Amino acid sequence: MEISLKKYVLELEHTFSISRESHDFQDSLVVGLSLNGKTGYGEATANPYYKITVDSMMKEIKAIETEINNYNLEKPEDFHAFLKEKGLSNFAICALDLACHDLYGKLLGKPLYKIWGTTPENYPITNYTIGIDTVDKMVAKMIEKPWPLYKVKLGTDNDIEIVKQLRKNTDAIFRIDANNAWTPEQTLEFAPQLKELGVEFLEQPLPADNLAGYKEIVDTCVLPIIADESCIVEEDVDKCAGHFTGINIKLTKCGGLTPALRMIKRARELNLKVMVGCMTESSVGISAIAQLTPQLDYVDMDGAMLLKHDIAKGIEILEDGKLVFPTLGGSGVTLL
Ligand SMILES: [Mg+2]
Repeated sequence: MEISLKKYVLELEHTFSISRESHDFQDSLVVGLSLNGKTGYGEATANPYYKITVDSMMKEIKAIETEINNYNLEKPEDFHAFLKEKGLSNFAICALDLACHDLYGKLLGKPLYKIWGTTPENYPITNYTIGIDTVDKMVAKMIEKPWPLYKVKLGTDNDIEIVKQLRKNTDAIFRIDANNAWTPEQTLEFAPQLKELGVEFLEQPLPADNLAGYKEIVDTCVLPIIADESCIVEEDVDKCAGHFTGINIKLTKCGGLTPALRMIKRARELNLKVMVGCMTESSVGISAIAQLTPQLDYVDMDGAMLLKHDIAKGIEILEDGKLVFPTLGGSGVTLL
């Protein structure tokens, strides 16, 4: 396989803030893998929380470039195992694994969902994320983007007030992501009020390492609790059982579609709800997530919708949240 690497600086439509950080640009690595006249694309965004930069990923991949060029592709899962053996970070592996899946599907002329034995008749629609800002700006951002389902980032001094104000302006469903900001007591206090305000679940209300706190509240909390920062890699799925209602899988954190598919299977065995989330990827990464949607309860794949300019074409998200799956095989990604 012939490999190509490209760094993009993705400009966001609005400054994006969560409880621990704020940014206007998102650095992203796009990997191309080519074979027999087809090219597959994968992506991984840089992430300060996990100390990953585009340069660090490029360095890791360049160190094994010759081996990748000489690699004899049979199955994407084998390629993933090969990368794991080489000791690459999950972020770099994700970009390569997504590219490999896209290439594999394009070579077979089949979309990935079909290769995985699913059909895209039933799938959850994505939320549209409202980052932390002043109440007025959060309301304005929501009104600017009419959508049936919003994910609201919280972790401020006036969380309930924000949701009350948003509710005055829409009938949409809300889901809340507090990104580690609450205590168990706050979570139990806020949950009934939020449920009343039309919230469907809470994502990662407590710090990632407070598993005891989650165990304490998961059965009494009136809203489902979804793990995000507490569920990073495959081994974490088992740890989430009994502590959370469900898990949010991020492709960059777990290392791509190959482990994500295994995590979905394991979560089902453990009776956990399954969500896949994004990290402000362009349509390269989002199109890979889209292929998983028939297997999911919830999905957060608005990354490309939050960008000023997308860099690729693939999955199309319509005004009502419905998806138009690309007809090309794989994830169906082409660069613009
Ligand atoms: Mg989250």
